[in-house]
This record gives sequence, C-alpha cells and structure tokens, in this order.
Amino acid sequence: MTEQDVGVLAIGAGPSNLALAVALEESGAPGLAEGALVLERHPDVKWQRNLLMPWARSQVSFLKDLVTLRNPRSRFSFLSFLHDRDRLDEFVNMGTFHPFRWELSDYLQWVADSLERVRVRYNAEATSVEPTRDADGSITGWRVRLSDGDTITCRDLVIGAGRDAHVPGVFAGLPADRVIHSSRYGSRIADVPTDRPTRVVVVGGAQSAAEMFMAVHQDLPLSTPTIVVRSIGFQVYQTSKFVNELYFPSFVDDFHDATPEFRAQVLDQMRLTNYAGLAPPFVDELYGMLYQQKRFGPQRSTVRAMTEVAAARVEDGEVVLDLRDLRTGKTEPLTCDLVLLGTGYEPGMPALVRGLADQAGLSDVAVSRHYRVDLGGPAWGGLYLQGVNEATHGMSDSLISVLAQRSQDIVTDLVARRGAPAERRSA
Ligand SMILES: Cc1cc2nc3c(=O)[nH]c(=O)nc-3n(C[C@H](O)[C@H](O)[C@H](O)COP(=O)(O)OP(=O)(O)OC[C@H]3O[C@@H](n4cnc5c(N)ncnc54)[C@H](O)[C@@H]3O)c2cc1C
Repeated sequence: MTEQDVGVLAIGAGPSNLALAVALEESGAPGLAEGALVLERHPDVKWQRNLLMPWARSQVSFLKDLVTLRNPRSRFSFLSFLHDRDRLDEFVNMGTFHPFRWELSDYLQWVADSLERVRVRYNAEATSVEPTRDADGSITGWRVRLSDGDTITCRDLVIGAGRDAHVPGVFAGLPADRVIHSSRYGSRIADVPTDRPTRVVVVGGAQSAAEMFMAVHQDLPLSTPTIVVRSIGFQVYQTSKFVNELYFPSFVDDFHDATPEFRAQVLDQMRLTNYAGLAPPFVDELYGMLYQQKRFGPQRSTVRAMTEVAAARVEDGEVVLDLRDLRTGKTEPLTCDLVLLGTGYEPGMPALVRGLADQAGLSDVAVSRHYRVDLGGPAWGGLYLQGVNEATHGMSDSLISVLAQRSQDIVTDLVARRGAPAERRSA
C-alpha cells in the first residue's frame, strides 16, 4: 500500500476529466498540469463502454469535442486525432457531424495517451473520499482511498465519475443475474448463453433502451425481445436549431443566473431534446427492422407502447412482470428470462459525492458557477463536480457540448486560488 500526494486529483477518466486534463496542459500555469493526476477504475479509457455497438453514433457534433470550442487550434481536437490516425479523408467523405461512438471512444483514449504532463492512473478505483483538516477544522484537502488499498491526498479534488444507474424500485427484488442495466449491457450480455432461446424484456423508451432492444437481436440470436414503453411510442429527439442554442456554452451563464423556478421550467421544456427521445435516423432503422420481420419473419420482436411494469417477481425460476396497459388500466403477467433496463441515471448526486458531503459535514451540495462546492467557509482544499449540475448549470451539463468551456472555468478557478494568472496557450 502506497501513499501519494498531488495538487489536483481527478476521479474518472471520462470526457469531463480528460477535457480538464487538456485544459490544464494548455493553461500555461506553472506546475499545475505536472501536479495533476487522473484516476480511472478500468484498465483503459472507453466512452459508454457497455453500449459500444459498432453502429451506435454520437448525438453531438464532433466539433463539440474536448477542446475545439475553447481552442480550435489545439492539438487535442477530434480532427487532429483523425489526422494522426490517417482517417481524415475518409471521415470527411462520410459527410457527417455524428461520428460512430467507438470512434469518439478511441479519440478519448488517444487524448489520454497524448497528454504530456497530466498523469493518468488506470485500474485505480476511488472507493472513499474524506476531507483532511487543519487544527482549526478547516478543510485543507482530500484523502482518497483506492480499492487496492493505496491512498492519495490532494489539495483540489475534481469528481467526474458519471452518474449512478437508476433502477426503478419495482425491479429491486429481482435476482441480480436476471436484470441488466444499460450501463452494464455489453459485459453482462456476453455471459448469457447464445445457444438457447431467451425471452428478453427491455424496459424504457429512450436511446439506451432502444439500442439494447436492437442489439440483443444480434447478441442473442435465438431471443424473442419485447420492449415495454410507457409513452405513446418511440419519439425522436427535438432537434430545432433554435432550441439547440440552449446547448451553447454561453447559455450556462443565462441558466445559472435565472431563478430556480425558471430553470425548472427550462429543463422541463428541454426534456425531449435530450432524454426520452431517439435520434431520428435510429427510429427509422428500428421501424425498418420490424417491417422486414413482418415480411420475411421470423416474427421475434414486440413493441408494447403505453404500457408500464407494475410489479416484478420470480415464480418457479422464471421472471414474471405484471404489465399494466395504460389505455385500459388492465394488468397481465408476462413471463421472461432476462430484463434489460434502459431506465437512465439518477438525477441527484452520485453515492460517491453524497458520502463525501457527509464526511465534510455538508447537508446540501451547492456548486458555484465555476463548479466548486460551497464548503461552508474558507478552505485551502477545493472540491469540483463535473456532470452532475444539471439543476444549476443546465441540460448540457451531463453532455459533451460544454466540456471544453467547463474545463476552462474550473482551471480558471484553480489558477485564481493559487494566485497566478490564467493563460490560454494555443498549441
Ligand atoms: C448510452 C449513452 C449515450 C450517450 N451519448 C451521448 C452523446 O452522443 N453526446 C453527448 O454529449 N452525451 C452523451 N451521453 C451523455 C454522457 O454522460 C456524456 O457524453 C459523457 O460521457 C459524460 O462524461 P463524464 O466524464 O462526466 O462521465 P462518464 O462518461 O460516465 O465517465 C466517468 C468515468 O469515470 C470512471 N469512474 C467512475 N467511478 C470511478 C471511481 N470511483 N474511480 C475511478 N474511476 C471511476 C468511469 O469508469 C468512467 O471512465 C450519453 C450517455 C449514454 C448513457
């Protein structure tokens, strides 16, 4: 077991903290990047590692990569990655703003590998975090314990570890081997035998649910998948260019300055621009698959719209879901072998942050415009949160759209707290 001390420690090597690593390297602030360490619990970097189907695409323009909107001349841009991989000609020829998900995932690993001063430590899962304090009790930094027993202390901690999976209470009593949340789909489905018929029920009507529904047809070739959708049917994302302006980094200021009531209204109106909808081409692909089945068979798939799962249990070794038809109010049982949950992520703070807030004696987690948690008084140590501030920073907070600017906001705050001027440097 080792102990290490760093200046800035970032938990999670996802898009948020990799964008931060790039901003640190480009800040020009003496020693800041050299003193930074990013922890990743997996042995590598992957974007949405369990939904990396070869056909899945990013829903956001590749120009909203980790850096371009902040520094279009950066060597860490997506285009620079393609150039480095000798794929620029072909990518341009595809004529798309929406790269395949695997390609963005490769880009993230390339960024991590291309960092020169910020270090990335793999197979390093942070299991608990606690504040360190000086004699008068004020917070001087943070102590992070890893699953292998090592300890890392730091002055500033940035948590960008994603959100916790949302498993609706109705499924809580099912055995773990019968339920797969979309965040585990790829690794778990690989363990399901492919040589026997499996009755699969997918729950949810948004992108992750629809992607699992599509993928399971190939992953379990003898399966008969049903998808249960509460709404009137699969809907497409709202793609108005006018509304999409609310994903501009500049809108974060407007949103942050607004009243809580207005923010809530905006989030509600923006729901179908992000959650609860599918990318329009994907709706057509799904419909085409079902249409072909009707003509050529076998008729494997069922879409049950306006239906919800009212209860779930195991009877005689089989999963039984009570499906309530929202048109009639009638409930009927559906027996299956495996439930796939496309039920999204918890909107609140992740368990890691809640545990830390308890340790720091905070009843409420409130972040500043620059994503720094209010620790209730002056403190030498700082705590920053990425990707979990939708309520105060807007719908774009959990997306890639604002990463380039957000990481600059955090770096500006880090530099200001060190009393040094922030500089942008074009590589
Ligand atoms: C299926 C799906 C598709 C999406 N598609 C898009 C899209 O097209 N465009 C878009 O903008 N957004 C999309 N999103 C939203 C997505 O949240 C963001 O794109 C982005 O991944 C958020 O980055 P992040 O770094 O904050 O979190 P994450 O991507 O979740 O990365 C967090 C990282 O932290 C690591 N980690 C977690 N806990 C620990 C720990 N305790 N110790 C060490 N490491 C840890 C994880 O392994 C992971 O590598 C999608 C989300 C999903 C679920």
